[in-house]
Amino acid sequence: MPSPQPLTLKDRVISIQRSLPGSVRLIAVSKYMPAALIREAYDAGLRDFGESRVQEAIQKQAELQDLSELTWHLIGHLQSNKAKLAVRHFDWIHSVDSLALAQRLNRLVESEQHSPQLCLQVKPLPDPDKFGWTFAGLKADLPALKACAHLHWRGLMTILPMGLSSHEILNAFHETQQLAQDITQQFPEDFTLHELSMGMSNDYQLAVQAGATMVRVGRRLFGDRPLP
Ligand SMILES: *Cc1c(COP(=O)(O)O)cnc(C)c1O
Repeated sequence: MPSPQPLTLKDRVISIQRSLPGSVRLIAVSKYMPAALIREAYDAGLRDFGESRVQEAIQKQAELQDLSELTWHLIGHLQSNKAKLAVRHFDWIHSVDSLALAQRLNRLVESEQHSPQLCLQVKPLPDPDKFGWTFAGLKADLPALKACAHLHWRGLMTILPMGLSSHEILNAFHETQQLAQDITQQFPEDFTLHELSMGMSNDYQLAVQAGATMVRVGRRLFGDRPLP
């Protein structure tokens, strides 16, 4: 669990921002939280918000239409029947986790005339409970992913299994960074994977040490979530 939190949301925003290098983007994970809380976080200076469910995010976006410069990040598994709405309503999709989804997004981006920034979700360690490519699986799919000519690949995203030591966490994040670098070197025309979406409340400091450019922090900002 996150350690005891300073009093106000604004205090927590400031303390987390202070602990991050200026180049790392703090994505406030607002899933299951009301739009009013996003508004409060916006007033405290945050602009990037992460949601795990498309419909829930669209509802909040409607309530927050008056706020400018909000950037919406989809971080949860995307079902294919929600892909069209996701393309329309998100600036970033971190959770592209299969070739079939990528191919669907490729068709939708063309017809919707809106092209979110995309990350490929990978699993540096075996984890049957999570979506995403194993490293070997991703390498095998790269030629087919390259053929998705309308997509803008920006980086890799990873969620680690629970219960790892700090050493194991750091290793897994480093391996993800290395994979992004290898792919970018090998296919510079098709993949510029400079973004690393790694780290959540419990491990974002380690992720930053390993080169994360985006951290996704929920509970440490907003406290415990209500159950979905
Ligand atoms: C919920 C969630 C987070 C935030 O987790 P916290 O532990 O609350 O910081 C980050 N990334 C993803 C993909 C999530 O689903």
